[in-house]
Amino acid sequence: MKTFQDFDLPKSLQKAIDELGFVNPTPIQEKSFSVILSGRDMMGIAQTGTGKTFAYLLPILKQWKFQDNESPRVLILVPTRELVVQVVEEVEKLTKYLSVRSLGIFGGVNINTQRKNLADGVDILVGTPGRVMDLSLDGVLRFDNLQKLVIDEFDEILNLGFRVQLTSILSMMKSKRQNIMFSATMTEDVDDVLDEFFEFPEEVSLAPSGTPLEQIQQKLYHIPNFLTKINLIKHILSTDETTDRVLIFVNNKKLVDVAFELLNEDFPDQFGVIHSNKTQNYRLSTMANFQNSKLRGIITTDVMARGLDISDISHVINLQFADSPEKYMHRIGRTGRADKEGIAISFVAPYEEEQHLAAETLMNKEIEVFEMPENIEVSEKRLEFEKDKRRFKSIGKKINTDERGAAFHEKKDKNKKVNLGGPGKTKPRKTAPRNRAVEAKKAAKRKKK
Ligand code: AMP
Repeated sequence: MKTFQDFDLPKSLQKAIDELGFVNPTPIQEKSFSVILSGRDMMGIAQTGTGKTFAYLLPILKQWKFQDNESPRVLILVPTRELVVQVVEEVEKLTKYLSVRSLGIFGGVNINTQRKNLADGVDILVGTPGRVMDLSLDGVLRFDNLQKLVIDEFDEILNLGFRVQLTSILSMMKSKRQNIMFSATMTEDVDDVLDEFFEFPEEVSLAPSGTPLEQIQQKLYHIPNFLTKINLIKHILSTDETTDRVLIFVNNKKLVDVAFELLNEDFPDQFGVIHSNKTQNYRLSTMANFQNSKLRGIITTDVMARGLDISDISHVINLQFADSPEKYMHRIGRTGRADKEGIAISFVAPYEEEQHLAAETLMNKEIEVFEMPENIEVSEKRLEFEKDKRRFKSIGKKINTDERGAAFHEKKDKNKKVNLGGPGKTKPRKTAPRNRAVEAKKAAKRKKK
């Protein structure tokens, strides 16, 4: 087990920690430390009580050097005044032997006192978004020297309706700074703000308590479009009675509703949906109905599934392939029952090939491909989002297939043999669509050169 000694902290900081009686860093402290030290932007998923405050304070203070500035170098935004007080206390505990000026500001108290305190000079400022915005619009609070922005309890800040204040603060800042964010859950609101203001922060979360990879049977079908995928899932649901506790993923809430309506035609009252446009009560009752098996399945998005405490899933079905390999891992890790294999089935359209390859590269494993049964009707119709590929958000990193390790290729060859021999499972293909996609990409690359 790591100790704080492994963090190689300056003596003044180590002494303060020793006096607090803390010996071992918590998991989130351990995982965030090197990311924050590296200067990269970070999105940490951690609840209160996990030690997240020290998780961002320690690396920030490790790098602390005396500078003679009036305006803050570090701004920590938190949702409530209680948290302002608490975080300031934590800063004071850690900086007992360092020369750091900290200050907390929040609404509901005299703004003039805070103006004066700010004018006296501050290094680490902790505040609620409303008061921070007011004082910066006033011109009293300046961000000229700001090096680090911490947004703590991001989800709660947005839940409390501080989005306008937060975005106006963000737009007043110069772009060169490190952003460190923590949220208990990834909500769609958090995701929206991240999309708009931050470029791919590194995600740090504690290992999802999912089924280990070896215990998940992964299957894949190449399917031309979304509506054909619906035909296939209907077929699977009506012919495979082991699909009795199913988690169905799509990539956005609009498509959750589309999938629900189409499935509900054939399987009335068997499926529920969970997404951020539904009220809290609706979501809770859907969850309860699923837990007590009144519902056979839930259709949801990655964002919503993070906060769901559901177990005993017979099948995870990816109607759309996850747009990042990490999300894919997270999704399939939700399946699995005590001592039994979990089953994860993914439907991949040609425009999702890149994401599919990225997931295989991350796992260093090829997903077994199954042939679409012949009696499945192939829809000619494309949904709106399938017509314009440019609108398609592709977060998956571009994969150069040649860069995959030798072990991957070895396994790939092995899988091929197994797949080809599997009776009634995978039929040999002359040209797999995947290969065509890869070939096309390679050809495009060659052309560029
Ligand atoms: P937080 O999640 O930041 O609200 O922290 C929860 C509580 O854990 C606070 O009272 C911290 O002082 C305490 N704490 C933080 N880090 C550690 C640690 N490494 N060992 C023991 N307690 C800690």
